[in-house]
Amino acid sequence: MTSTSDPFAYDLDALRARVLPETGGEVDRSIPQLARADASLFAAALVSIDGAVGASVDSDVRVSIQSAVKPFLFALALQDTEGEALGRVGIEPTGEAFDAIKLESGTGRPPNPMVNAGALLTASLVDGADAAARSARILSGLSAFAGRALEVDADIAKNEHLLGDRNHALAHLMRAEDTLAVSADDAVAVYAQACATLVDARDLALMGATLAAGGRNPVTGVEVVSREVARDVISVMATCGVYDGSGRWMRQVGVPAKSGVSGVIVLAAPGRLGAAVISPPLDDQGTSVRGHIASELLSAELDLHSFRTNAR
Ligand code: GLU
Repeated sequence: MTSTSDPFAYDLDALRARVLPETGGEVDRSIPQLARADASLFAAALVSIDGAVGASVDSDVRVSIQSAVKPFLFALALQDTEGEALGRVGIEPTGEAFDAIKLESGTGRPPNPMVNAGALLTASLVDGADAAARSARILSGLSAFAGRALEVDADIAKNEHLLGDRNHALAHLMRAEDTLAVSADDAVAVYAQACATLVDARDLALMGATLAAGGRNPVTGVEVVSREVARDVISVMATCGVYDGSGRWMRQVGVPAKSGVSGVIVLAAPGRLGAAVISPPLDDQGTSVRGHIASELLSAELDLHSFRTNAR
């Protein structure tokens, strides 16, 4: 068993071997491409805030980022609106499913940027005169977080757009409440493209590390978002990032994170590192089963829990 507080002496292949025998959970079936996911895939990567990278076998296998894009859409919206996005979306956890057809009572705003309503809204707030320009801005922003040019899987984007009935419903509801300024169809199209961005574990770990490093990509040196934006995004990941299992996650893992239905989890431990795990079978709340176990092990063995202290 690996036990060290040095992330780059940490053996991610040994971690992989420990969690691979876990066969619980089901792959997502919302679109055919996700239903065909390889249930035996497990990959993990770590990137320190100094840019040192550790990666397991299969850390170059790409999957669609899905909901793990939400913190980065929030970051780009905050950056592009100079914080004005904060008034347009709530920041409280919902305790409900990520795609619940519900807005904040009284304001008609999305409850937070980590559920679908919020991400549809934040994706609509990034710079760009039309849907194509906003999608291009999002892809270049995500690429800056990942430190390389990412690509969108056009077939996944098309199916997310066509089959995302709940997202269309949410966008129409926000139109009716006057909280979404673009057309409902444009909002869903841009969000669907964002969810269909392909990443591997290394990309996602570097995206998390960029937040953990205060918005500066630790490998390329590019200032992707401001320190304040990175802080705001990580705060909301901590309270709302793991669907309606965020409380359990914070107790067990203690690292701000965001999961997605392709089995991805991105973690950001401020001032320490970014991490990512990818394994498609999901628990009832939509979080990767092996990814959750691996995150708990990583947190314990690298001493990452935000609320653990030796002082007493
Ligand atoms: N494409 C998914 C949707 O909005 C993302 C879901 C997820 O990863 O939670 O509906």
